[in-house]
Amino acid sequence: MFTENSYREMGISNEVFEFGEKILAGLETRFKEIDKTAEVNQLKVIRAMQKEKVSAACFYESTGYGYDDLGRDTLERVYATCFNTEDALVRPQITCGTHALALALSANLLPGDELLSPVGIPYDTLQGVIGIRSSPGSLAEYGVTYRQVDLLPDGGFDWDGIKNAINEKTKMVTIQRSKGYQTRESFSVEKIAKIIKFVKEIKPDIICMVDNCYGEFVESLEPSDFGADMIVGSLIKNLGGGLAPSGGYICGTRECIERCGYRLTAPGLGKEVGTNMGMMRQLYQGLFLAPTVVAGALKGAIFAANIYEKLGFKVVPNGKESRHDIIQAVELGTPDGVIAFCEGIQAAAPVDSFASPVPGDMPGYDSQVIMAAGAFVQGSSIELSADAPLREPYAVYFQGGITWYHAKLGILMSVQKMADKKLIDIEKIKNTEV
Ligand SMILES: *Cc1c(COP(=O)(O)O)cnc(C)c1O
Repeated sequence: MFTENSYREMGISNEVFEFGEKILAGLETRFKEIDKTAEVNQLKVIRAMQKEKVSAACFYESTGYGYDDLGRDTLERVYATCFNTEDALVRPQITCGTHALALALSANLLPGDELLSPVGIPYDTLQGVIGIRSSPGSLAEYGVTYRQVDLLPDGGFDWDGIKNAINEKTKMVTIQRSKGYQTRESFSVEKIAKIIKFVKEIKPDIICMVDNCYGEFVESLEPSDFGADMIVGSLIKNLGGGLAPSGGYICGTRECIERCGYRLTAPGLGKEVGTNMGMMRQLYQGLFLAPTVVAGALKGAIFAANIYEKLGFKVVPNGKESRHDIIQAVELGTPDGVIAFCEGIQAAAPVDSFASPVPGDMPGYDSQVIMAAGAFVQGSSIELSADAPLREPYAVYFQGGITWYHAKLGILMSVQKMADKKLIDIEKIKNTEV
């Protein structure tokens, strides 16, 4: 077949290709559901852009202070409308997701306040921000305390524990939607809505912040549709649609966002300043493309789950489970497995396909990390990428794919590399019943 030849030219053997096609044949219904969600989200974005009167003038570059920046101000209204919040801060000056989260936290927590995570330990880089791992400038240094309630052994919420942890100092609750570098499940919007409702019933003025990284547009509603006071994320993940060269967003209540503006620039200046750096067209167009880009990434994640599950590895989520983010964890069990997988992702990239990923130290992470990415935007993880901390259980976290076809190639290439290194048995693949 024509496509088979194309894959062979890319270095994918017939056995691996056929195996992939067998798996795909079983995924039609799920792919259709993903397309439906993308359709709803696409309309949501267009509706927001129309309502806020996006025009060609929004794409002009501003300089200096960026006073009266039409593109910047309109984009923030588009985000607020799209995510059903009073206001938003969407800026190229927010350097990454961690920065956006640090901003949302530090702007809204004052000395003497307490932050509560009712869903266990937060993402690696947030641990430095909070001061769980000591770091200059952490919230702990400024006298903000932190409390954590772990998930129950079965992965459920510890409702009693959460209730007991809330006290007169508790000012904010942080809920991480995606599993990050953990093997727990990622939370559905419905589950997040339940925690928000629960804590607000105990203490109505608690600020509920959701780390929304990797979750945007996976479902047709967001945590902000269910009372989250802030949702926070990176523009080089889902909402940048692969086009945003940099940036982060916070959508939320007028009061929270106003404080975030003052913290980002300076007290008294707030959201009024900040040049758009000529990035506006990419940020608008990226948001416009994000629903279909997220759909492609989701298809890749589901394809990977079903392939690796069939090969005998533990995958989280499993091949059948519903999806709440674009991340797929595959427990390969050995450093060699992790490295081979990442080599496959790298070899399938449009950029830097000739490079070989090797484990190294990363700022903000406490074990060595290996990362595979051949991205147009450095570090962009809405583009096909894989990363893994080199520690037990040697799980690789795979995500992204600006197009489904690229994600498919990457996954097949990872299987090919595993087969080439005899980490999986190619003969067995050939005879696998699907
Ligand atoms: C990616 C991510 C972040 C922030 O990471 P950056 O690399 O700083 O953008 C925070 N939390 C979660 C769950 C993430 O996946």
